[in-house]
Amino acid sequence: MSLDRAIEISLMKPLGMHVETVPLEEAGGRITASPLASKVDDPRFDNSAMDGFAVIASDCQVTGSTLRIIGTSQAGSELSLRIREGQACRIMTGAPLPEGSDAIVMIEDTVVNGDQVIVNGPARTGFIRKRAENLSMGQVALPSGTLLTSASLALAGTMGHGSLEVIKRPRIAVISTGDELVQPGDELAPGQIYESNSHALASLVEEMGCLAVRHEAANDSLEELRATLDELSYCDAILTSGGVSMGDWDLVRKIMEEEGSISFWKMKLRPGGPPLFGSWRETPLFGLPGNPVSSLVVFHTLVVPWISRSLGFHPELGPRISQRVSVELEDDIKGAPGKLCLRRIRIRSENGRLLATTHTHQGSGNIHSMVAHNGLSLLPPDTDGEAGQVIEALWLL
Ligand code: AMP
Ligand code: MG
Repeated sequence: MSLDRAIEISLMKPLGMHVETVPLEEAGGRITASPLASKVDDPRFDNSAMDGFAVIASDCQVTGSTLRIIGTSQAGSELSLRIREGQACRIMTGAPLPEGSDAIVMIEDTVVNGDQVIVNGPARTGFIRKRAENLSMGQVALPSGTLLTSASLALAGTMGHGSLEVIKRPRIAVISTGDELVQPGDELAPGQIYESNSHALASLVEEMGCLAVRHEAANDSLEELRATLDELSYCDAILTSGGVSMGDWDLVRKIMEEEGSISFWKMKLRPGGPPLFGSWRETPLFGLPGNPVSSLVVFHTLVVPWISRSLGFHPELGPRISQRVSVELEDDIKGAPGKLCLRRIRIRSENGRLLATTHTHQGSGNIHSMVAHNGLSLLPPDTDGEAGQVIEALWLL
């Protein structure tokens, strides 16, 4: 199964998409569920970009022109002021432009003398922000599937939305499996190791705009696994880690074969070969590999597109945890026969080029390699990468 085919099959059982309305103050980090159109023009009226004087440009052709001050336009003022030839109006940044004026002189370029102002600098039309130059009423500026970041929240506010429709956060269960796994911090008996995958997976689930429901690690027993899967089948999807290879104790694969349904098992991917996808009862389930690097690699390559396409994330404005880039290799890296090869690489920008190196040991059990590096090569099957060559990669954000 190629990665592309695996994604296609998984999308036949998409993650359910539901919508809820939330107040703007609670919308940070959420994802828009419908296109958002502006309720107003932005700016709403011609206004000044500077503190200074609103004037008629033709009155200020010569340095030292003197004009009579007829009033002040402040931010929030009503739009009733008007100037005529030979007149000027004090104006503050953001305040409405008085009728009749067509230019602004900066305060720094003026000298005030009683009710007269002497203009010693240029009167610029460019200091006027024109009505609707940013946005027109009705214009859709936030498409559906946009992550509400600081700037997009401000834009939603500017457009007049006090509440908005966002994607309801799907609940995604995260279950580690393995008799050897112990909660970090607890006492380790001989042969046991600390459980770490569920922490990484839960964090990735949240970064993708979903709610992670972390369960304590399940032992390698069909009874415990069945009970845990049943308990969590109320969630919108389940991610397990471990127990999907060929071994006798790979019980996630076994229970899914016997009691669930499997849409595919195994991908042409290194690391991360043995994942499966299917459903438990009606709940979509990804069986991710147990090796810590493999489970993350499969999340980045398979689960991310499944979530983003199921929920309709905008390709540029939606949540993203990696970016596809072209990088120039500084070291040789080995590809994999018949498999897409995701080597850990460290990407850095230098003189306008993205350069990639490899540092630590690349074993799929070495989670340190995912911290020491910040990217994954996307080496096509049967190809090695040579120093100097440009290859595709995922830059982990
Ligand atoms: P498995 O696929 O269950 O055979 O696991 C493969 C390897 O990953 C074994 O060395 C496991 O001990 C390790 N492993 C499995 N699950 C976890 C986990 N949740 N945290 C850390 N290591 C794990
Ligand atoms: Mg195991």
